[in-house]
Amino acid sequence: MTDTMTPEQRHRCMSHIKGKGTKPELLVRRWLWGHGYRYRLNVKSVPGKPDIVMRPYRTAIFVNGCFWHGHNVKMRECGNALMHESSEPRSGNNLQDLQDLASTKYEQEHKKIDLLSSKCCKIPSSNREFWLAKIMRNQERDERNYRLLRENGWQVIVVWECQLKPAARLERTLREVELLLNNNLLSMYKHTPIPYTADEEDEAPLMAAEGAETAIA
Ligand SMILES: [Zn+2]
Repeated sequence: MTDTMTPEQRHRCMSHIKGKGTKPELLVRRWLWGHGYRYRLNVKSVPGKPDIVMRPYRTAIFVNGCFWHGHNVKMRECGNALMHESSEPRSGNNLQDLQDLASTKYEQEHKKIDLLSSKCCKIPSSNREFWLAKIMRNQERDERNYRLLRENGWQVIVVWECQLKPAARLERTLREVELLLNNNLLSMYKHTPIPYTADEEDEAPLMAAEGAETAIA
């Protein structure tokens, strides 16, 4: 990835993207609204300030930008890879050894990039450490928020920016969100059997008789 922006320019550009009511979030909101779902936005009283709050479903929806939230980027692994990378030269100093060393370093370098970037979260090559630290902090904060919500009985749905394009994928993704929502709603109204009282047993002799028959058989 060629990077022609200065860190400041990039920062300004990225901060702009990060703001509330960003496009992916709008796409999700518009779809939900169009399908008759109602919601609230950025409710401060709900842990982690989810983008979309649907209280009747006790569901919090986060619409995450792939870059900012490091979609498919596993930071812990990348930390190890960086730690394991050795810059020590090997014993020999003939040309073949040097070539081997160079190709190993090249491979390591590329493996490192693969590990740190994903299709939809390409970490800029300049100012890399800054972005890595930032994305890692965001990932950790996300995990904390999701955990806190779940501990408080909320269901968490995360929609990624890349799951919203093209239009057919958006439709598929939001149909899945709809299924999850309805599942969450159903799970709140799970049938809990109510034990019979003595009075009810008196009023339902047929059922009692059926029970007795089974017991004899
Ligand atoms: Zn993504």
